[in-house]
Amino acid sequence: MDKDSLSALLFIREFLGFNEILVEREMADTVEKKLNELKEEVLKCKKCPLHQKKTNYVFGSGNPYARVMFVGEAPGADEDREGLPFVGRAGKLLTKLLKEIGLDRDRDVFIANVLKCRPPGNRDPLPSEIKACSPYLIRQIKIINPDILVALGRFAAYFLSGKDKIPLSKLRGRIMESVFGPKLLVTYHPAAILRNPGRMHEIKNDFRLLKKFLETEVGEGK
Ligand code: SF4
Repeated sequence: MDKDSLSALLFIREFLGFNEILVEREMADTVEKKLNELKEEVLKCKKCPLHQKKTNYVFGSGNPYARVMFVGEAPGADEDREGLPFVGRAGKLLTKLLKEIGLDRDRDVFIANVLKCRPPGNRDPLPSEIKACSPYLIRQIKIINPDILVALGRFAAYFLSGKDKIPLSKLRGRIMESVFGPKLLVTYHPAAILRNPGRMHEIKNDFRLLKKFLETEVGEGK
């Protein structure tokens, strides 16, 4: 190869490499930008009465490029105070369960709830509140595009699976299809495990199943 051809080749390689970096940067900008824009929208939301009594909106937190997205029901008192999901006792248990399967909650997962504002006294979400708020969750799922959703508790499980007539105990423990694209694993809400520690082995089995899924399924560019 003569000197001119070599220089041309090096130029093309450098040019293509540069372009690849630009494309990657552009994609990264898009995901983070879209998620931040959505967050700005949520922080101004008045679509249901829950915004009146909340302290903070709880948009969600974690890695926007995560292969796993956890979905709980709604913020509790600790989450409402801090503006972050799963920071109370249930959150600590979730962090511990993740650690046991080698996942870090900031690095490896994104965590959100069906509702972004706390229902007073931690009561169950009303159908009207789920109807008003769930479009935000659906948009989060579309932007983050995880390989798998993990529903924590029955409200998230029914919303993500579309199967609201089946008891949670029958939905959990297997990888299934969600109604929003990614696969779905249903398990108990960590708060339910704190109330009923006898179920700890079941939630641990579900987390092991998640680990197996992540090891065997090839992530799409993540
Ligand atoms: S719960 Fe959701 S829909 Fe209702 S005010 Fe909060 S962000 Fe808006």
